[in-house]
Amino acid sequence: MTNPPKTSNSQQAENLLEMLRRSGVINVERPRQVYCNRDINLADIALVGFDMDYTLALYDQGAVERLSVEKTLERLVGERGYPEEIVDLQVPEDFAIRGLVLDTHRGNIIKLDSHRHVGKVYHGFKEVNGDGLQEYRINSMRMTTPRYALIDTIFALPEASLYATLVDYFETAQPDREHDWQRLYRDIRYCIDLAHRDASIKDELINNTDKYLNRSVDLALTLHKFRSAGKKLFVLTNSFAPFTDHVMSYLLDDLLPEYPRWQNYFDIVVTGAQKPGFFTERTPFVEVDKEGRVLGEEFSQFDSSKIYQGGNLVDFERMSGYRGNRVLFVGDHIYGDIVRSKKSSAWRTVMIVQEMEQELAQAQELREENSRLELLEQELQRINEEISFDQGLAYKVDALLSGGVAQGAELADLDDEQLRTVRDEIQKSRDRLRRRRRDLLQDILSLEKRFESQFNPYWGLLFKHCNKNSIFGEQVEVYACLYTSRVENFVHYSPLHYFRAPRQPMPHERY
Ligand code: IMP
Ligand code: MG
Repeated sequence: MTNPPKTSNSQQAENLLEMLRRSGVINVERPRQVYCNRDINLADIALVGFDMDYTLALYDQGAVERLSVEKTLERLVGERGYPEEIVDLQVPEDFAIRGLVLDTHRGNIIKLDSHRHVGKVYHGFKEVNGDGLQEYRINSMRMTTPRYALIDTIFALPEASLYATLVDYFETAQPDREHDWQRLYRDIRYCIDLAHRDASIKDELINNTDKYLNRSVDLALTLHKFRSAGKKLFVLTNSFAPFTDHVMSYLLDDLLPEYPRWQNYFDIVVTGAQKPGFFTERTPFVEVDKEGRVLGEEFSQFDSSKIYQGGNLVDFERMSGYRGNRVLFVGDHIYGDIVRSKKSSAWRTVMIVQEMEQELAQAQELREENSRLELLEQELQRINEEISFDQGLAYKVDALLSGGVAQGAELADLDDEQLRTVRDEIQKSRDRLRRRRRDLLQDILSLEKRFESQFNPYWGLLFKHCNKNSIFGEQVEVYACLYTSRVENFVHYSPLHYFRAPRQPMPHERY
C-alpha cells in the first residue's frame, strides 16, 4: 500500500487560496452576479451613491402594483368621472415590462428593438398584426413627441397595465364609438401621479411596510464592506425626508452593532432630489429635518448627521469634494438615475434590474431550448450562404450560355449541354435549399415564440426582442457600466474588485 504524497506548506496554502477563490465570486449563481458592460475598477471609486426606491429598497413589485392600480382606479372614478364598475376590473399583474412605449394616438402598446423598430404591438390585450403595423413600418417613431409615453421605471408599470385594461374595457363596452385614447392616457397619468402625491400610496407603504419590503442583513453587510474599504457613501433619492427616514430605518436600523441608525452608513443624504433635474438644473440644496421642514439654506459643506433636500450635480461635486469617475452611482431608473447622470456627468453607473433574478433563473431552466435555437440559427446562416453561392453560380452559367464571358476556369471549359446540366442541378439544389430554409424559419419562429412565452407571456424577455436587444436592453448596455439584480449582490465581491467587460466581437470579427 502506498501512502498519499505529502503536500508542502506552500502547496497547502495554494490549495486553500484556490478553495477560497472557488467559493467566492466565481461561484455566485447567475441571478445574483454583477454584470459588466464597461471596465471598472472599484479601487478607483471614492464615493458610492444609492438611489432609494427600487434600489436600496426592493419592494414586492406585485404588491406595489396592486396598490397603485387600486388607488388609481379609485381616482379615475372620483376625479375623472369614469364608470364605477371599472374598480372591479381584473388588471393583470404580469402584463407590463420596462421599456414598453404607449402610442397614445392609437391606444397601442409597443415593444421596440434596439434599432427602434417595432417588435410587438398590443391593443388592449389583443396582439396587433398585419395592416395594424403598417404605419409603424413606414414612419419612424419620433419618441420625443408627446404622442409616445415610455414606461421606464417599475413605478410606471401600472400605467401600461391600466392602459391596456381600459382600452380593452372601452372597446368591449362601446365597440362602435370613436375613442379618445390620448385622453385616457392623460387621465391615467394624472390619477397615478395624484395617488403618489396625495400620500395615499405612501401612507399604505408606511403603515404596512412589512407587506411591501424585505429587510436583509446582506444590504447592511454590503454597505459596511464598501465603508470598510475606505469609501464614502451617499443616498440620492426623489422621495422626501419623512418617507426616506421611514423606509431606510426599516431597512437598516439595528442590524449591525456599529450602525445603530441608518444614517450611520452614509456621509451625505439627499432627499427630494428631483432627478433627472438634479443632473441638469441648479436647484439649491436646503437642510431639512426628518419631517421635511426646512432648517437652513446656507452651508458650504455636507454634514453626515443632517438630511438635505433638492440640490444639483455641480454643488454636490463641489461640496462633497469628489467628482467625475471617482463617483459610482447605483440606481434603478434607466433615465432619471442612469442615462441622465451618464450624459451630464462622468459618474460611473450601476443599474439595478430586479426583474433579472426571475428571468435568469427561468433562462437557466430553458438552457436546452436556447441551445437548440442557436443551432437552428447557425444552420439558417449556412443555408443562406449556400443559396447565395448557388445564385452566383447560376448567374455565371447563364452568362456563358448567352454567349458572354464569366470568370472561373472550370465553367469556361464546359460545352453548352454540360452547362445546361449544371444549371438544372443548381436549380434543383436551390429549390431544396429554399424549402429547407422555409421549414427552418418556421421552426425558429415557433421555437422562439414558445421560448419567449415562458418569460413574460405577452412580451417575452425584458432585454431581448428575437435575436436583438430590446430598447431597454440597449439602454442598459450603453449607459450602465455594471448591472445586477440587487445592491446586496456586491456582498459577494471584493470592494476593490476589477470588473472587466467581456470582449464583444462585431459581426465582421466573428470567424
Ligand atoms: P427614488 O427612486 O428613490 O428616486 O424615488 C422615487 C420616488 O418617486 C418615490 O417616492 C415614488 O413614490 C415617487 N414616484 C414614482 N412615480 C411617481 C409619479 O408618477 N408621481 C409622483 N411621484 C412618483
Ligand atoms: Mg428608484
